[in-house]
Amino acid sequence: MTDTILNATGLGKRFGGFVALANIDLSIDRGERLGLIGPNGSGKSTLVNCLCGTLRNDSGQVEFDGHALNGLKAHQRTRLGMARSFQLPRPFHTLTLAENVLVPIMYVGRAHGVPDPRQRCHELLDMVGLADKSAKRPGDLTQIEMRKLELARAMASEPRLLIADEAMAGLSHQEVDDILALLMRLNEQGITIIMIEHIMRAVLAFSQRLVVLTAGRKIADGDPREVIRQPDVVAAYLGS
Ligand code: ADP
Ligand code: MG
Repeated sequence: MTDTILNATGLGKRFGGFVALANIDLSIDRGERLGLIGPNGSGKSTLVNCLCGTLRNDSGQVEFDGHALNGLKAHQRTRLGMARSFQLPRPFHTLTLAENVLVPIMYVGRAHGVPDPRQRCHELLDMVGLADKSAKRPGDLTQIEMRKLELARAMASEPRLLIADEAMAGLSHQEVDDILALLMRLNEQGITIIMIEHIMRAVLAFSQRLVVLTAGRKIADGDPREVIRQPDVVAAYLGS
């Protein structure tokens, strides 16, 4: 028996007259690693925003871990165990890295407060390799360090589902491998992960299943190696 953690049905979203998402169905099993790909502007981030409550979908339903999410705000969904990293990291620039991680540990988490927030903060910064920089501020960080901080902040809410929206953009080959290894470790700890990514090498190494969006529609959903050979998927990429 499979255990579904997230089930979205018939999701639609318009911006004015523009259809950003059309009738998207998406289901994900607990513990799964799902890749979500598609050309720029195909609706990937909009889908994430509708799942996480950053945007309100115009039609359709989302169920997460047994809860119907319609009408719930982003912070309420975070508390139920959904977390996402933003494509453009959004740290608090005036706070130290430790404070940046402590804030979500103490205020937005799934638990009402872990017993030792400072210890958990250290563990999370250590997990992403930033423990020795805990007193620095986001402005002192390199691009990969910013992305690692963004992941530590997402993990600070102790999610059951983590959505990583282009966490690897602009990184070197080695840095991509670092983030990939980090996401694999989180998945081994039982966290379900949706990876949105353009770097096909990383997507294929990571994903057990691949979903493809083009122009707000889902055109493929299945085994990654089969999906990337599908003629309409190939055409969508050649055409972009
Ligand atoms: P992706 O993440 O796949 O690159 P997005 O979901 O960011 O794509 O965007 C999908 C489409 O919706 C794009 O054409 C984008 O310009 C448009 N869009 C996204 N957010 C907004 C918004 N807040 N207002 C108007 N249009 C938007
Ligand atoms: Mg995007």
